[in-house]
Amino acid sequence: MKTIGLIGGMSWESTVSYYQQINEIVKKEAGSLHSAECLLYSVDFAEIEQYQSQGNWKKSGEVLTGIAVKLEQAGADFIVICTNTMHKVAPEIQAALSIPILHIAEETAEHLNKQNICKVGLLGTRYTMQEDFYKNKLIDFGIDVLIPEEQDMDKINQIIFEELCLGIISEKSKKIYLEIIAKLNSAGAEGVILGCTEIGLLVKSEDTDVPLFDTAKIHAESAALYALN
Ligand code: GLU
Repeated sequence: MKTIGLIGGMSWESTVSYYQQINEIVKKEAGSLHSAECLLYSVDFAEIEQYQSQGNWKKSGEVLTGIAVKLEQAGADFIVICTNTMHKVAPEIQAALSIPILHIAEETAEHLNKQNICKVGLLGTRYTMQEDFYKNKLIDFGIDVLIPEEQDMDKINQIIFEELCLGIISEKSKKIYLEIIAKLNSAGAEGVILGCTEIGLLVKSEDTDVPLFDTAKIHAESAALYALN
């Protein structure tokens, strides 16, 4: 079994679900007492979030690169960055490594291709919804991407940083998310990507008829299967 190098803590609320899901899949696939071989480096999210809001991606990239190198030196066979947003600096991190990064948007795009989804809505932080680093990965796999309208992006982003990353799960926010998901569906999205690893803590597939693609789940499952194969 390969050793997974997880970079987590962004936020730790969602890193918990990675650890749980990876182990559940290894148990299901490998049976008996098997569990995942993994190393977790969990950051102080306040530091990373400060660099994000200052637009200091260079610094955040340097911090995560340092961590990824440590994980490689400690024996990781591949790296899993447990956040969509910080994949903005994935190319810099990859350049410093001789082991691969399992890219969250590529894994999600492959999953969508298998389900024949060609047009999808994308929810995530403002960085993930608006900038190209994430959407372009989906476009490379032949997937059209719809993002919410301006005020809806504000609400989505605010709920991520002021509630979900602090472990606050509210019915009011869930309703807001479900309304935005319905709007994206009416605009032609065949499904919606939960492109922030905390959104799955708020909104579940059973809450809507619109197919949801939870990136934390997809990424964790890919990591477990990659480790086993
Ligand atoms: N976990 C989130 C994501 O998947 C947001 C936190 C962050 O800004 O890294 O994008």
